[in-house]
Amino acid sequence: MSPSSFRNEPLLDFSLHQERERFQRALDEVRAQAAAQQLRAAPLLQGEKKGEGTAHQVRNPSLHSEILGTVQYATSEQADETITSLAAAQEEWRAVGFARRAEIIHQVAVLMRAKREELAALMVLEAGKPWGEADADVCEAIDFCEYYALLAKEMDAPKALMPFLNGEQNVLSYAPKGVAVVISPWNFPLAIACGMTVAALVCGNPTVLKPAEQTSLIAAAFGAILLEAGVLPNAFTLLPGVGEEIGAQLVANPATSLICFTGSRAVGLQILQQASSLTPEQRHFKRVILELGGKNAIIIDDDADFDDAVKGVLYSAFGFAGQKCSACSRVIVVKEAYDRFLDRLTKAAGDLIVGPAHEPATYVGPLIDEESQQRVLQAIEKAKGDLTITLSSPPPTGGSFVSPTIFRDVPDTHELWREELFAPVLCVAPADTFDDALRLANDSAYALTGGVFSRSPSHLAQAREQFAVGNLYLNRSITGAIVGRQPFGGFRLSGVGMKAGGPDYLLQFVEGRTVTENTMRKGFTPELA
Ligand code: NAD
Repeated sequence: MSPSSFRNEPLLDFSLHQERERFQRALDEVRAQAAAQQLRAAPLLQGEKKGEGTAHQVRNPSLHSEILGTVQYATSEQADETITSLAAAQEEWRAVGFARRAEIIHQVAVLMRAKREELAALMVLEAGKPWGEADADVCEAIDFCEYYALLAKEMDAPKALMPFLNGEQNVLSYAPKGVAVVISPWNFPLAIACGMTVAALVCGNPTVLKPAEQTSLIAAAFGAILLEAGVLPNAFTLLPGVGEEIGAQLVANPATSLICFTGSRAVGLQILQQASSLTPEQRHFKRVILELGGKNAIIIDDDADFDDAVKGVLYSAFGFAGQKCSACSRVIVVKEAYDRFLDRLTKAAGDLIVGPAHEPATYVGPLIDEESQQRVLQAIEKAKGDLTITLSSPPPTGGSFVSPTIFRDVPDTHELWREELFAPVLCVAPADTFDDALRLANDSAYALTGGVFSRSPSHLAQAREQFAVGNLYLNRSITGAIVGRQPFGGFRLSGVGMKAGGPDYLLQFVEGRTVTENTMRKGFTPELA
């Protein structure tokens, strides 16, 4: 099978009674396991769970009184031990070969598919992801496995290239890069952790996954699946732990060859700086892949279809409470449409259901934790001092909720217009013309996603040419990129590297080797092998 035969995992259809019932049963089962204290994450080293680190409680962000389980953070010794043991496993994992590793990663997808409701239910409870979003996260994880497995199979056979001279043979092949450190965020706790990890593994790199502190339980479930699928126990380590400590230590280790990070700009920059320092014993540069944030804008043209545009903005800005790197946090409306659009948007956003992620009707779930909630509430209070707020309502209690909030006429110099907040908070501003709207949209340090709602073919063509983002969406929402169809990733300060879920992604995890042989031998020596 080639990558062109790839098919995406279909989403569950929660309009069907039986699918809703099955999902509710999965939630009940995970909660029963939590009540029986069966959910635990701990360092997984050489296939064994290690328990000597400090244990921390995991709480449901929708219901802080509910304790889901415990996570044991890795120790500093375990971080060093990990890199040493992964370095020792390099040859064995390389020798498994691309084709067999691809089969193993395909098996990871098979196992995740069999447990899809259970994995999504755990995500609903641990990350506060509403049902549909959690299901989409699992599907994306399955897609990454299937897609990268297909790409890896194509990397197996050395590629014959054109000769330059008669009798010359040129061959390009790929070898693993070395020990890979994967550091993942909490907002796509399965899909992103899985995508980065299986990309590194399928290319033959022994890999350690350091998941975000907030979503260690789902990472532990994923780690168990990797081993069950056949990843060699010495080629994969899971190290739950504090980013500033364990993450930084893994990055700094001289035997680390590759760092694959998704998260905030501040941490990404630290990693880039730390990885660039060379120790005397080091004989390689560390390769760093960074997928960072965005300050994504949607432009509403004066002829836009408001029915589509309101729906598209709502989902892009408030789906998963705005906690997506691709989320829309700026809306720029061409001035003839400004008041009418803002009125429609504000009324519709006011009707969104805010509540616990485990309730099927919830549209806007909680923020990931109380720290995030406090940070966002403070930012809103501060902005109220100098901006006009058009939508704000008291959030539900019991979890880390923030209700959808909209500020209007936000100047392009304001902090809320320029900095990523990662919350259901939207800035809206008018533009004199479509040209002006594009100028405002592009005036950002980030270049991740963007969107345009317009019925004008010439404006859509102009956006295709001039809207400087990695993923541009026309007349639709701007989140939810699909593996293999919409390779995902930005430029400027949104990241460094190839697009995830795209045909070039795996090339970052290997070293290319070209061998040129002159086959026009002079003489014949049959006695030599
Ligand atoms: P974060 O940067 O706080 O944490 C990400 C990971 O880095 C966590 O595992 C954390 O423990 C670890 N970490 C923290 N400090 C570290 C250090 N000094 N050294 C090494 N590791 C360290 O980000 P977050 O809050 O988990 O995620 C939200 C951010 O991620 C947002 O900025 C969002 O835009 C971004 N994001 C980007 C993409 C993308 O594909 N571009 C996707 C999802 C999220």
